[in-house]
Amino acid sequence: MAQIILVVCDGLGDRPVKALSNKTPLAAARKPNLDYFAKNGITGLMHTINRGVAPGSDTSHLAIFGYDPEKYYFGRGPFEALGAGFELKEGDVAFRGNFATVDSHKIIDRRAGRLENNEAFVKAINGLKINNVNFFVLPGVSHRAAVVMRGKNLSSDVSDSDPHAEGVAPPVVKPLTKTKSAIFTSSVLNKFLEKSNDILSKLPENSQRIKEGKPPANCILVRGAGMFKKIPSFFERYKLKAACIAGGSMYKGVARSLGMEIVDVVGATGTPETNLAGKFKTALQLSSSYDFVFVHIKGTDVFSHDGDYQGKKRFIEKIDSAISELKNSGALLVVTGDHSTSCELKEHTADPLPIMISGPGVRTDDVKTFSERSCASGALGHIRGLDLMPELINLLGRTKLYGE
Ligand code: ZN
Ligand code: ZN
Repeated sequence: MAQIILVVCDGLGDRPVKALSNKTPLAAARKPNLDYFAKNGITGLMHTINRGVAPGSDTSHLAIFGYDPEKYYFGRGPFEALGAGFELKEGDVAFRGNFATVDSHKIIDRRAGRLENNEAFVKAINGLKINNVNFFVLPGVSHRAAVVMRGKNLSSDVSDSDPHAEGVAPPVVKPLTKTKSAIFTSSVLNKFLEKSNDILSKLPENSQRIKEGKPPANCILVRGAGMFKKIPSFFERYKLKAACIAGGSMYKGVARSLGMEIVDVVGATGTPETNLAGKFKTALQLSSSYDFVFVHIKGTDVFSHDGDYQGKKRFIEKIDSAISELKNSGALLVVTGDHSTSCELKEHTADPLPIMISGPGVRTDDVKTFSERSCASGALGHIRGLDLMPELINLLGRTKLYGE
């Protein structure tokens, strides 16, 4: 039987919204099941990284799993590649990539019309070899991809080719340090990008897209360079056999970098339309063969970035009804987020987020509902992301004696 089920609702925390009578979307949502767990559990607030830090999803997940990002974060790219199912080797340099549309040297669509199918485009530029460096291109969802460089003398100290804006030319990749490896890496990468864009622009699939009035995927942009290094596995650390249920490839990548088993659920897309019921049902099924099941839900963050507080509230209500599946799991159930994302600011903020743990051996507190405000008076107090795993190991009764 699983000992721990951890549910991370991305960007769960929020700020008061005027139109919701100054409540947060979580506080305004009707959520009898989450409230039930809070009432029967221990609650608190969590800064996944630290006060005053607005965390990215990658660093915050590492921290929640007990891995200090200061030590174990090596950039976003490797997580994307791992999440796409690629076997990275130590020394590989990986990037997030996306197909874009360029016209007269200027980016006119950073997402190439949110490409429905990227297979032909990925295939066209996968496997190129330049100056003895092998390039692997892995498909992501829609316009997204990951790019991996494998070879000698590589460095991740290189800039992005993605300007994060439209109407400008993709910038040339530059070395960020004066080391030979950074200079070499940027030069080879620029050659790859130039060659790729040339191949892409001549692709029959793009002529077809133009004919259909769609923006061609004639350019690949890369960002978030990181060099892959092996990390001590979750099992080595905690002796817990772990599984991950997530839609987004980055989350799968973080879990894979820690040696977790990735379990695919049909319809788990990492979007607001994801198959929530399927995710929780699978979590329950997995709980018979794994000690730790991590469930990631992205929709809360997506609505926040869109400023759609009603959508976020309704999505939390959907999570609430689907999570009833876990009522009698017998495991420690943890529900929290990885950071707050404000619907008003449409950005991640440094506000702490609510957390609750319910299940066997948990000392309850007087908190009866699950929200930013109610959890502020919970008995767990105010913790950091790195405190979560030690708290859980203690609840499992496995904390080592300090002293005699
Ligand atoms: Zn996040
Ligand atoms: Zn976000």
